[in-house]
Amino acid sequence: MLTDGAGICRYRVQDMPKDSLLVVSAHVGDFAWRAGGAIALYATRGHEVNIVCLAYGERGESARYWRMGMELDEVKKARREEAEKAATVLGAKITFFDADDYPLIETPELLDRLAGIYRQTRPTVVLTHTEKDPWNKDHEAAHSMALEARIIAQAPGYHGKGDPLGAPPVFLFEPHQTEYSGFMPDVLLDITEVWDTKLEAMQCMEGQTHLWDYYTDVAKRRGVQAKRNSGPNLGLETDTMGEAYQRVYPQVAAELS
Ligand SMILES: [Zn+2]
Repeated sequence: MLTDGAGICRYRVQDMPKDSLLVVSAHVGDFAWRAGGAIALYATRGHEVNIVCLAYGERGESARYWRMGMELDEVKKARREEAEKAATVLGAKITFFDADDYPLIETPELLDRLAGIYRQTRPTVVLTHTEKDPWNKDHEAAHSMALEARIIAQAPGYHGKGDPLGAPPVFLFEPHQTEYSGFMPDVLLDITEVWDTKLEAMQCMEGQTHLWDYYTDVAKRRGVQAKRNSGPNLGLETDTMGEAYQRVYPQVAAELS
């Protein structure tokens, strides 16, 4: 991990021991736009990556397919295939809960299943949505379930198989309407070396082609911020692509930098 004088952290995954990354995504596209770089970085370096898609986003995030005249089952099938392809490109395993979207509703059954995933995969890092997203309540529901299931999996009395979970840090990935969702990143992840992989994964999402350029621009902007906040000369030598994250729980460390 690298830190700079302004307190912004830049993580280099190669500095870390073997990890298990768990990504809790409301819909199929979300993990690619918001965390595709982190997923590719971890997978490339031999870490385990598991993605959970709570819903396909068939009703709310597949407008292109509805305009083409597809029926519900066809949309779900198409979105699932895109997500499987994107996960393969990124080097991750993917699980679909096939909950309804718009609205995605938190239920005891979904929480129990997700807590079971926590116990099985033993994540050392968790990525999910922000607490607030006034444009997309499904994302807020995913955030709530990701945190609640983590807490359940930590409970010694939980009936699920496996030992109680420790305390993996939770990082929130970037929402679509950043400022209005109260997102204030405290981690900028350098994803330059896997940018081509992330772009290829994003381009698997044929149902949301309008977002390919948008999230390329986001990565450029976060890359510029990463350069400005790192290195002895306040800048990296190469063009940098980045992803922004916000921690939920305090960082535990033996030293400050
Ligand atoms: Zn979504």
